[in-house]
Amino acid sequence: ERLKLVVEREKVTEEVRIVLRNIGMIDPRSIDQYIARDGYFALHKALFEMKPEQVIETIKESGLRGRGGAGFPTGLKWQFTAKAQADQKYVVCNADEGEPGTFKDRLIMEGDPHSVIEAMIICGYAVGATKGYIYIRGEYYGSVENIQKAIKDAYEYGFLGENILGSGFSFDLTVRLGAGAYVCGEETALLESIEGKSGRPRLKPPYPPTNGLFGKPTVINNVETFANVPQIILNGANWFKQFGTQGSPGTKVFSLVGNVVRRGIVEVPMGVTVRELIYKFGGGLVGGKQLYMVQTGGTAGTFIGVDKLDVPLHYESFRDHGVSIGSGVILAMDEDVCPVDVALNTMEFFEHESCGKCTPCREGTRLAVEILRRMSKGQGKREDLDTLKQIAITTQEASLCGLGQSINVPLLSILDNFREDFLAHIGTTACPKGVCRFEKPM
Ligand code: NAD
Repeated sequence: ERLKLVVEREKVTEEVRIVLRNIGMIDPRSIDQYIARDGYFALHKALFEMKPEQVIETIKESGLRGRGGAGFPTGLKWQFTAKAQADQKYVVCNADEGEPGTFKDRLIMEGDPHSVIEAMIICGYAVGATKGYIYIRGEYYGSVENIQKAIKDAYEYGFLGENILGSGFSFDLTVRLGAGAYVCGEETALLESIEGKSGRPRLKPPYPPTNGLFGKPTVINNVETFANVPQIILNGANWFKQFGTQGSPGTKVFSLVGNVVRRGIVEVPMGVTVRELIYKFGGGLVGGKQLYMVQTGGTAGTFIGVDKLDVPLHYESFRDHGVSIGSGVILAMDEDVCPVDVALNTMEFFEHESCGKCTPCREGTRLAVEILRRMSKGQGKREDLDTLKQIAITTQEASLCGLGQSINVPLLSILDNFREDFLAHIGTTACPKGVCRFEKPM
């Protein structure tokens, strides 16, 4: 039994590169080098050997789920759009990577831009869309440059435009830039922004697969989700399913940040543990310090203590163990970090990025910051903890979009898992970790 466990663990901890297979292997500005590594072969296969329904069936069968963070089944999304009746449909790539600590999409776009473009064309063919947009975070200059160059080359080689490779299928692709608003990564705010309006979210449902860009059926997927598609089409659903877990097949690209020795990006099968990510791939903590807490999944993710390091990460790990995978951030924090300060920092981010359209998010984030700021100055009260929880729950239940709806995850997890730290911060004369600046002795 023990040997079996060891073998399973060994299997999990190997790096597997599907999405990152070309990173560092090719010149991202050379379409020829992409083609030399089977680039656009999947597009050729889809156009000439598969019917649109077969493409969708393959993606469904593979179990690929949305890598932006929510894990919605990709094939199902494509099917909704394929079935919708409309004179025009769209494919949109959400490349407005804004989750603090996440920089995986940037690496993919800078290092292998054609993989995303190829996937979007395949998606267009599968769902019957002839137009696509890549909405890239404006600060990602390298991504914008490489994607634009790749689009230009793809047009020249006949992979984009009219009658692609003589197949009769046509597809056009355009780049749009974000302007630094976190909320524009929320899919409906992103669509509004492409339409030329202020980037504010719409009420969901209806969802974009049926009512998306300009009100038309629209597939909107994250960069990493798309980058999986060519390999799945080429190698088949069963090949993809050999990696990862039953409910979350494939790999996940993680961004390792914080006090780890080796900060960076790693692609591993779903089911990897936080411990493996921090100690095996991240090389442990800087200066040999003790790990105190980890935020998994991004700013909207969970704060966990060292008791949860062995939870396998996949799309059910939040439901089953209270540990979210989200966009794949692993933020390691050492013993010198104060949870009150971290909670304040997190809520300040949400307050700043709240678009203000709906009251619960605008006021909820503001109130949370007000209380946490007071606590960090040494003026916190015990009742504040319950008030913060109520704010978290109300904001989650009543907010219009994912931004306000997700503040309860970081807030409740840090209050629950680090309650003792919050209590130790109250009724004392100094921050126990010496991080927060108390204004005056209590
Ligand atoms: P969501 O669960 O509302 O939706 C996920 C996707 O599934 C969307 O594309 C949505 O349109 C689709 N969908 C859901 N239900 C559907 C239905 N019934 N019919 C058709 N389509 C349906 O989640 P969300 O608000 O879009 O995203 C939240 C996630 O975003 C969080 O998990 C967070 O981790 C992540 N996030 C990522 C970043 C980043 O930079 N990558 C930034 C912030 C948040």
